[in-house]
Amino acid sequence: MDIHVSQDFPGPKAQAILAQAHRYEPHSMSEQVPVVWKKADGVYVEDVDGNVFLDFTSGVLVVNAGHSHPRIVEAIRDQSSQVINCYDFANEYRSSLAKKLVEITPANLDKAFLLSTGGEATEAAMKMARRYTGKQTILSFTGAFHGRTYGAMSAGGKHSGASTKGFGPFLPMVSHAYFPYCYRCLFGKEYPGCRCACLQSLDMVLETQTEGNVACVITETYQGGAGSILPPREWMLGLEAWCKDHDALLIIDEVQASFGRTGKLFGFEHHGIQPHLLCLGKGISSSVPLSAVVGESRIMDCLEPGTLSSTHGGNPLCARAGLANIDVILEEKLPQNAASMGEILASGFQSMKNELEILGDVRGQGLVWGLEIVKDKTSKEPNPGAAKSVVHAACRKGLLMIAPIGMYGNVLRIAPPLVIDRERIEQGLDLLRDAFRSVVYTD
Ligand code: PLP
Repeated sequence: MDIHVSQDFPGPKAQAILAQAHRYEPHSMSEQVPVVWKKADGVYVEDVDGNVFLDFTSGVLVVNAGHSHPRIVEAIRDQSSQVINCYDFANEYRSSLAKKLVEITPANLDKAFLLSTGGEATEAAMKMARRYTGKQTILSFTGAFHGRTYGAMSAGGKHSGASTKGFGPFLPMVSHAYFPYCYRCLFGKEYPGCRCACLQSLDMVLETQTEGNVACVITETYQGGAGSILPPREWMLGLEAWCKDHDALLIIDEVQASFGRTGKLFGFEHHGIQPHLLCLGKGISSSVPLSAVVGESRIMDCLEPGTLSSTHGGNPLCARAGLANIDVILEEKLPQNAASMGEILASGFQSMKNELEILGDVRGQGLVWGLEIVKDKTSKEPNPGAAKSVVHAACRKGLLMIAPIGMYGNVLRIAPPLVIDRERIEQGLDLLRDAFRSVVYTD
């Protein structure tokens, strides 16, 4: 496929479908650019009018193995002709996938429970933590995102945001400590000089908002929704030590950060920490809905039969897609590719940052990056309008990006499929640079 966007984009077919969606669907979804997807292959997306885009979204960080990878498509095709759903009766592929997940994660994680969505996985992990420890408090962080169901939303760290405001009251006994957003440090400090002084907020929250009965701490290894915010390694190590000291389980939510996205198979590997419960989703299948909690059997086995299951969780179709996907990711060395392609992105973004006053911060790992758009570098005032304009301008040039994210809606999210090569990374950087220039010099 070759990138091509017609002058009359969005074309006639797209316009008709968008009008239908506007009439019959609620307006609750994100405001994406008007690309009506028809098919996608590898790193390209084609819309219903034949426009072709280079994909810097991976769906929403789902298709790590690339769109419609032939081995995953074949697994889905073959399985769909045999059996698709069997509730929680045993099936070969569910237990094989559980085994595979145990094999590729740290040795302390020796059981895996399969579900369909990331939110279900984080909910299940928090339930397991309360049941196992007999304690109630769930400690999460400012800016966190763990899903949109009530428990997951309660653990989320921005209750005034459009996706949570007006939905309260939230789950009781969920508290939030400060997550290190170093570009906007609340304490006005700089890393490494600060030596992660913000870790002290854990003790402060413990003392002021809880009765000390912390069942678990839940965190992402980088905060995706908050704007691709990466904590220092020192902070992660400090957090792990804090959990040990307080006899609290550490739940790592890698629904977004896993399966090679950050340049390692799992994001926590960058930090050398070990979760007690690990939540996975998105890139676990590169396709159909699938998620998992991988954990220690001492925790998981405290749940008696009937405690947790789900209609679609671990169905043979999704489980088989997951197995094929993991083989692809490992055999094609996609984490390694993400790491080396990420270096090209890093230097491209750095030179854009040097050139552009509105590009305040650039941060990322492997093939997930956040570009924080501001009014100017001195004030750091968030500039969500310009971020949106860049996404639209890029789209017209053939580069597909998700609507801006972040605490202030001003962060461009860059997340191509992990099969991308150097030529297409450089092409994407050129298109993005053009989009920035068209916004900055016509503002
Ligand atoms: N946890 C994290 C870190 C996520 O990024 C997401 C989704 O973006 C979720 C949980 C929720 O996943 P889902 O939308 O599949 O429920």
